[in-house]
Amino acid sequence: MEYKIFGCKTNKYFTDRWAESPLLAGKEGVFVSSCVVTDKAKSKWVRFAKQRLKTLKEGEKLYLSGCGSLKEGDIDGDFYAIYPELLPFRDKIELLPEDPEDPPLSNSLLWGERVKDDNGYSPLLLGEGLGVRWKDLKFRLQKAAITGTGLHTKKFIVIQTGCDNFCTFCLTVQARGRHKSRSAEDIIAEIDDFVASGWKEVVLTGTNLGAWGAKSSEDVSDTHFPELIEEIMGKTTLPRLRVSSLGVEFVDNRLLELFRNPRLSAYIHLSIQSGSDSILKSMNRHYDRAKLLQVLGGLRSLKREDGVQINIGADLIVGFPGETDSDFQDTLGLIATYGITQLHAFPFSAHKEHYSVPAGKFPNQVEERVKTERLDTLMAEGERVRRSFLAANDGKGFRVLVEGKGIGWTQNYIECTPENFELAPGFVFEKRAIVEGVYRFCL
Ligand code: SF4
Repeated sequence: MEYKIFGCKTNKYFTDRWAESPLLAGKEGVFVSSCVVTDKAKSKWVRFAKQRLKTLKEGEKLYLSGCGSLKEGDIDGDFYAIYPELLPFRDKIELLPEDPEDPPLSNSLLWGERVKDDNGYSPLLLGEGLGVRWKDLKFRLQKAAITGTGLHTKKFIVIQTGCDNFCTFCLTVQARGRHKSRSAEDIIAEIDDFVASGWKEVVLTGTNLGAWGAKSSEDVSDTHFPELIEEIMGKTTLPRLRVSSLGVEFVDNRLLELFRNPRLSAYIHLSIQSGSDSILKSMNRHYDRAKLLQVLGGLRSLKREDGVQINIGADLIVGFPGETDSDFQDTLGLIATYGITQLHAFPFSAHKEHYSVPAGKFPNQVEERVKTERLDTLMAEGERVRRSFLAANDGKGFRVLVEGKGIGWTQNYIECTPENFELAPGFVFEKRAIVEGVYRFCL
């Protein structure tokens, strides 16, 4: 089976679970994890899928999961109405839910046959008649997933999915459904087995992971995310824990304090989107510029126990409806002021294709030319700041986790190779090892 992942770490995590799932055992073809974050992202996987569908051999299929095939976390029954260009291939397409543990499953996966309904084809509920009792299946899936035999060297672990926030540009919330958290026991069990398999780094991820443990992702005061990190630190021997994209509203002094711990990665990626108060309001974000600057200031001045300088990354959108030059400057100015080095930046997408988002109908849509100019300016500034951050870390000592292919990462997410990392005596640059040495910035 070939695996093709588009989009975020949540897609990586669930692709890992499908890759280890007995439900795909013996199946041939290609597994595609789709993404709908922008029109461009959608057209990428649709184009890839159409190309592969034309070349599939007898008995092969395209297994599709991810936000493109989901609605509220389940298989989207209107899939072919939304993607009519894929209708001619429906015999070769298997729509899958987010997680192999999630019933309903398309029964052709287990029974190898299909049942026609009024709209042609649709998944049916898993029935007792299958002889595969759900409990056994669930156990086998969990066991396979935990052995860390997945596709990646570090482990992305989904701790939360879905969201209740409804930002006006977001499609993910439509695909992944409402906010729900996994139990701390489940998460820690998965980490323990992962560490027992000899792995060193876990990346916590989710749709809005900072809301872990809250009843609603909108109720920031009800989050128990810091407690979860404390519990992982206290109950596991995991050497390195990283947090993926985090909502600004969830970063409080308690969380900042935890980032002083050497076992917690010194790389924090924030879902910022904009630096302008009026744009944040129009996006329906749950923080304002004052909170944002307080969080960035807190991170930038944080003194870690291991003395490593914090590295900051950010998700940013340019060209949101109504964004003026001065709004854009509010965003651009953040990069140099707070040393934001890793930018995941997109031009606002009105999602004309296939779906729609509230902001797609807002007045004052920004011209594509202006969006492109602003994106180029932002990325150039990000690259300038990234290089000065690397130069500032020249000659400093680090612990690098080697991921294979002669590449490894410092605690603060600086990429190291045998060429730019001077190993301390007794260390070998080998896969899965944590090695010590000095980083050398090469122009
Ligand atoms: S917080 Fe906003 S952008 Fe993030 S998943 Fe929820 S609705 Fe989407």
